[in-house]
Amino acid sequence: MKAVVFESLENMVIREDFPDPELPRDGFILKVESVAICGSDVRIFHRGHINVKPPQIIGHEVAGIVYRVGEETTEFKEGERVVLGADVPCGKCYYCLRGHQNNCTRAIAFGYQLQGGFAQFMAVPRDAIDAKIVQRLPDNLSFDEACLTEPLACVVNGQDLSGIYAGDTVAIIGAGPIGLMHAMLARAKGATKIIVSEISEKRLEMAKDFDIDVLIDAREKDPVEVVLRETDRLGADVVIVAAPSGSAQAQAIYMARNLGTVNFFGGLPPNTKEIPIDTNRVHYKEIFVHGSHGSSPKDNAIALKLIITGQVKVGKLITHILPLEEINKGLKLVESGEALKVILKPWN
Ligand SMILES: [Zn+2]
Ligand SMILES: [Zn+2]
Repeated sequence: MKAVVFESLENMVIREDFPDPELPRDGFILKVESVAICGSDVRIFHRGHINVKPPQIIGHEVAGIVYRVGEETTEFKEGERVVLGADVPCGKCYYCLRGHQNNCTRAIAFGYQLQGGFAQFMAVPRDAIDAKIVQRLPDNLSFDEACLTEPLACVVNGQDLSGIYAGDTVAIIGAGPIGLMHAMLARAKGATKIIVSEISEKRLEMAKDFDIDVLIDAREKDPVEVVLRETDRLGADVVIVAAPSGSAQAQAIYMARNLGTVNFFGGLPPNTKEIPIDTNRVHYKEIFVHGSHGSSPKDNAIALKLIITGQVKVGKLITHILPLEEINKGLKLVESGEALKVILKPWN
């Protein structure tokens, strides 16, 4: 099959003759129709990841067609259109039993330990079926939109933890695809004022097409001051940091109201992960600071419903559709901020 292999740091090799994955007796082979590039794919490309041992095929935002089913597989039939979640939980550990499968102690995921979607085919094991992270798609939903279920599921998980309610003011730092998904989901949940700050000119321009009440050019204006001005000097109910920036995390603490919530949604590069935070402000203002990462099966189910019903219009985020061979161009487009979501097509 055709596949893109992450051979070593900064080295993606396009192979026409990569061996097809073996059909699991109790799983199935997926024919990949659409796979989106995630910011984490760009990070793996440059810096690697503890759970990715090259050579490996990465990519974890995947939709496609059930191509061949194993002899013991009864849940799916050949030809069915499906979308995958990324995390494949064990279903038995402390966190899985409490419904927080993204914290599964086994921590296995497509595009990390398991072969990912930057290929024409991938094997879907029994655990993925049992965990219900394989979801059927309605005929009228495109594969390009469907593969964005996975990143939206991570956003659903993050906002669940933050607790966003009707009438809330939500401040979001970063207008990349994740920041814009947060804005769309917060609106769907009833947030009445959405404030987004961004430093990239291209992203500010693209963000104008989204339903945002106050868009801040953080190169020219102090985003903390704007948030305070927009909230009668109280601060936002929820602040979401959707940018890999320590200074944005430090700033977020000043944007939240008393008893407000700050979500460090984006991770930081390992060498910059320790940052100075005004902990006295957290103390006296009773601010709740938390992180979030990944998604559970229930978040994937919610995300797909939001996409199907049009409450979160993920299609607006798709700026580029490229053949799989143009992976390097796609990675550059994502990294430069020129693109929002780039979809790769293994069969074009
Ligand atoms: Zn992702
Ligand atoms: Zn588990």
